[in-house]
Amino acid sequence: VDQTFDVVVIGAGGAGFSAAIEAKQAGASVVLLEKMPAVGGNTLISGGEMNAPNNWVQQKLGIKDDSADLFYEDTLKGGDNLGTPNMVRILADNALKSAEWLRDEIKVEFLPDHLFQFGGHSRKRALIPVGHTGAELITKLKVKTEADGIVIKTNMKAEALLTNDQGKVNGVTATSASGDKITFHANKGVILATGGFGSNIEMRKKYNSEMDEKYMSTDSPGTTGDGITMAEALGAKLTNMKYIQTYPVCNPVTGVISLVADSRFDGAILINQEGERFVEELERRDVISKAILAQSGGYAYQLWNQKIGDIGKTVEAHQDEYDMLVKQGMLHKADTLEEVAAFFKVDIEKLKATVAKVNKYAETKDDLDFHHRGGLVSLETGPYYIQKAIPSVHHTMGGIVIDEKTHVMNEDGKVIPGLYAAGEVTGVIHGANRLGGNAIADVFTFGRIAGQQVVAEN
Ligand code: ADP
Repeated sequence: VDQTFDVVVIGAGGAGFSAAIEAKQAGASVVLLEKMPAVGGNTLISGGEMNAPNNWVQQKLGIKDDSADLFYEDTLKGGDNLGTPNMVRILADNALKSAEWLRDEIKVEFLPDHLFQFGGHSRKRALIPVGHTGAELITKLKVKTEADGIVIKTNMKAEALLTNDQGKVNGVTATSASGDKITFHANKGVILATGGFGSNIEMRKKYNSEMDEKYMSTDSPGTTGDGITMAEALGAKLTNMKYIQTYPVCNPVTGVISLVADSRFDGAILINQEGERFVEELERRDVISKAILAQSGGYAYQLWNQKIGDIGKTVEAHQDEYDMLVKQGMLHKADTLEEVAAFFKVDIEKLKATVAKVNKYAETKDDLDFHHRGGLVSLETGPYYIQKAIPSVHHTMGGIVIDEKTHVMNEDGKVIPGLYAAGEVTGVIHGANRLGGNAIADVFTFGRIAGQQVVAEN
């Protein structure tokens, strides 16, 4: 069976949705292919937070000293300067516009008066969607695509890219869940928005032998690197493939990311079995993950009190996850430090000494041990929450090389005509390490550019 559209977008996460909407807006007929039964990808199951320098919530909270330049520097430095500078520049200069587009065109609701400061960022600049997950983003994007008449095909796995005699990409072959082979012809071009390869253990090991079966993954099962493999078959250049990020605070039973533990961004501390802090809680994800793995047992506990919990209300925002953690014996709430320590057999005397220091540093606003960049919060009063956590594979920084217009580049540095890519499938933004809140900023910024370019140029 053959079907023809102007633009074929592969992968219905944040990058694919925004690309499809922009291409349609520019006048093209668009089909969005998704191999899973439901749309959303990693974007859906993420916290959905999005960095945008100089955003409206910063204005409201009186944060006046942020800038695109600072965001650029944080992002580049956070990735050990392995991101491509001109591409990071585009991200930094357009993140706010992308956030405003989500707010104004897609009707995404962000919390009006709360921001996260993720590890590696020098300012509080991450907008938080209502509900604190990507569900708010994907739900609203779906409404918009339906209203715009964009065709979405779920259970439709793209298999291989097609090219014409001149080497221009002009379609893709796909297989439906029932095994039907369908060719989608693209008059204008194809956009790869298939996400990363965190759920593909073989591919992880191929590029980084350390990232083997011992790690579970936070990722959607659909993130198996298909777009990278399809582009590679046409000679696309890949970069930064060995950089695979673990998220430090995940469920030890399932590997799933903990969003309840976002209380870390409001002042929760990390301790080891001995009851001692061992890392700055707002350090980069790779640094915290490595530090956790170096503790006895290769796990950590996150500790916070009600005062911290009341800031971001992460328990209330993620009640289902909270109930699950309690049921699994991975999280315990109690009135006293003695009780939470006893639950996991943490050394209470050392824990008390740790907490006494935290309380002092909170007062002096000077964390002499780990220089907590957000400022520690006093843990003097209960009730307390303690949660066990391990690192789990979360984001693959590497991927396809794209240029400023999201063209896929080949090994010789030339554009592969008709082929565009955006989002986690690409490898040029985050270098060795992606900072929190930067994936959402990335996928919407470059997804939109891809959707605009494919129509403008073809
Ligand atoms: P991004 O954040 O870059 O948008 P996501 O992980 O949110 O990435 O979304 C990528 C989407 O692409 C997922 O929903 C995934 O299931 C889908 N996908 C991956 N490979 C294919 C494929 N071969 N065909 C169709 N969809 C795919």
